[in-house]
Amino acid sequence: MKVGAVIVATGWEEYPILKTNEYKYGIYPDVITQIELERILSPIGPTGGHVYRISDGNIPKNIAMIQCVGSRTLRGNPYCSAVCCSVALKNAQLLKQEYPTTNITIFYIDIRTWDKGNEEYYRNIRGQNINFIKGKPGDIKLNDDGMMRLYFDTTLESEVTSMDFDLVILSTGMIPSKGTIEISEIMGLSKGPNGFLSEVHGCLKPVETKDNGIYICGCAAGPKNIPYSVTSALGAASKAATLLSNDILRQELIIAELDDTLCVGCYRCEKVCDFEAIAVNDDQIAIVDELKCKGCGACVTSCPARAIDLKYYRDSQIEEEIRGIAEPFFSITSISQEKIQE
Ligand code: SF4
Ligand code: SF4
Repeated sequence: MKVGAVIVATGWEEYPILKTNEYKYGIYPDVITQIELERILSPIGPTGGHVYRISDGNIPKNIAMIQCVGSRTLRGNPYCSAVCCSVALKNAQLLKQEYPTTNITIFYIDIRTWDKGNEEYYRNIRGQNINFIKGKPGDIKLNDDGMMRLYFDTTLESEVTSMDFDLVILSTGMIPSKGTIEISEIMGLSKGPNGFLSEVHGCLKPVETKDNGIYICGCAAGPKNIPYSVTSALGAASKAATLLSNDILRQELIIAELDDTLCVGCYRCEKVCDFEAIAVNDDQIAIVDELKCKGCGACVTSCPARAIDLKYYRDSQIEEEIRGIAEPFFSITSISQEKIQE
């Protein structure tokens, strides 16, 4: 198909807990993930929204939730998955509404509820007879009575202790989806160190990629909650619509220009350009792709032969500006050309 714009919205996948078997997930039947709990709590889920232990079909009386499983650790993902704390709070509240006498304990490193209204929601949940323990369990053992014993040290009291639970819920983090990895290879999109797609600028161009007309949104670019995902989708759709509504493509005027008589073919510019907009050809001369160049200036400062200038920001133009500023204060004729360049 020929298209004018592409929006990549390939989402996320759950941290592969079945491969790592952390907290005996996949070994003890009553250790489940928050995503599985979400499904169980759904009125159209397999148990009509009621929660039963998988091992014996009983309603759990002591539930533990463990935050940051696979997240914020050098053994898993170093990053925060952004949504797990809020999801745990929401599910804890749903459990309390359904089973008011059930004890719920949330183990956490810090509770991160950064989006609008979420901090207030967190304070509200803390007042609802839910136990919060700052500390991450290190080990889990199955008792003879079918309960699971969690061993943990409490960060605030600095003591190693244990508690028994009949259901353990793991708040697993996000990883890039298989589709994200696949599409990045097909389209040559840049990825960050955590495997999510890279935007051109996290603050100023959060849905744009280095290629004109290709936009990214939602968790393809990193962990996000639903409001943030919707906002980025609207941003990407708006960018694509703006591009398609024009009959002509407007090109940046401030782009790199090359003096090929000075170029020595050292490849430095090619290596520093994040947009693949400059490349050295077979004659060992760098060539600028004017449609791809974003005018960032990285190649200009990297060139040892001073063969590249930015249009409208040429050295000669900057020198003239300095001359104009300096003229009222100094006798300009006394400043040598070398001094001005310094
Ligand atoms: S950095 Fe300068 S000299 Fe080296 S290839 Fe690029 S333009 Fe040529
Ligand atoms: S100005 Fe920036 S985008 Fe353009 S060729 Fe140089 S490094 Fe690449």
